[in-house]
Amino acid sequence: MKHPFERIRGIRVRECESLSKYTSLRVGGEARYFIYVDSKRALSRILEISRRDRIRYVPIGAGTNVLVADSGYDGAVLKLSGAFKRIRRKESLFRCGGGVLIERFLREATKAGYGGGEFLAGIPGTLGGAVKGNAGAFGHAVGELVVDVHLMDEHGLELVRTESEIVFTYRSTDIDHSSIITAVNLRLRKESRKVIRSKIERNLSIRRVRQPIGYSAGSFFKNPPGRAAGELIDICGLKGMSVGDAEVSRKHGNYIMNRGHARAADVLELAERIKKVVRERTGVALEEEVRLLS
Ligand SMILES: Cc1cc2nc3c(=O)[nH]c(=O)nc-3n(C[C@H](O)[C@H](O)[C@H](O)COP(=O)(O)OP(=O)(O)OC[C@H]3O[C@@H](n4cnc5c(N)ncnc54)[C@H](O)[C@@H]3O)c2cc1C
Repeated sequence: MKHPFERIRGIRVRECESLSKYTSLRVGGEARYFIYVDSKRALSRILEISRRDRIRYVPIGAGTNVLVADSGYDGAVLKLSGAFKRIRRKESLFRCGGGVLIERFLREATKAGYGGGEFLAGIPGTLGGAVKGNAGAFGHAVGELVVDVHLMDEHGLELVRTESEIVFTYRSTDIDHSSIITAVNLRLRKESRKVIRSKIERNLSIRRVRQPIGYSAGSFFKNPPGRAAGELIDICGLKGMSVGDAEVSRKHGNYIMNRGHARAADVLELAERIKKVVRERTGVALEEEVRLLS
């Protein structure tokens, strides 16, 4: 049977596509439609048809901050590619498509001799995902670099929100889930390539020491004000605790690792147990940083 997006040009649709391979945690069920979208025109058509046929949709970047439910996602998962992976530069202003990987942005910025984004080195996602969740590290967050964000809303309308019109808070923004970040303008500053490279290398080496290797979604919980979630989990003696193949990293308490065959239910159960113990022993209510797609 034909699917409703059949006639749209500039997209590739996979039906009943397993989402686990599109996420860094490697868990979760199938998407009813997994769609690679190459242009704004195609994106607006997808949104139009989704609205007409009451199909839910969600954008996905590199899938490094999401947990997909075992039941999957009964809707359209939209992966920005093609034109959404472009980077254009006008002096210190970098216009990046929502599907651009952070790593590539930093590589191009370094090559052009522009710094200021080195704190992002080692964050494995796209700029769309990073801006949506105000990703950051080493005391900085991507919102500090943003000049404006180009969005498409559920009606296919394009709008631009300047940095001052967006509320950037710790690992969060007020950009709603139905809006898709099609592009972002980021401001860097002129810097020597040598200095940029050494800052990036320093940040990556700190990460190599602190960060566990394997399937994870990075920090699972947000750091509560003035505390580190990993430290709270550690002092509660929870490192190494597991449910099925989901395990609290022995290296970093705030990482839930998939040892290979974890189900989303295992990860969720483990997260609930962590929250319960931390709340009972320290009085702190942990809140997920990872977004559940279900
Ligand atoms: C090993 C590891 C280390 C990490 N370290 C850090 C870190 O130091 N700091 C940090 O902040 N994060 C970190 N993360 C988490 C993650 O990499 C970042 O949050 C990243 O910015 C998410 O980008 P993504 O493209 O993977 O987004 P996804 O995980 O694909 O999506 C995350 C959210 O953004 C939405 N989204 C994605 N693309 C768009 C778009 N174009 N428009 C609108 N919404 C969109 C999704 O719908 C979802 O709600 C780490 C993750 C891993 C696995």
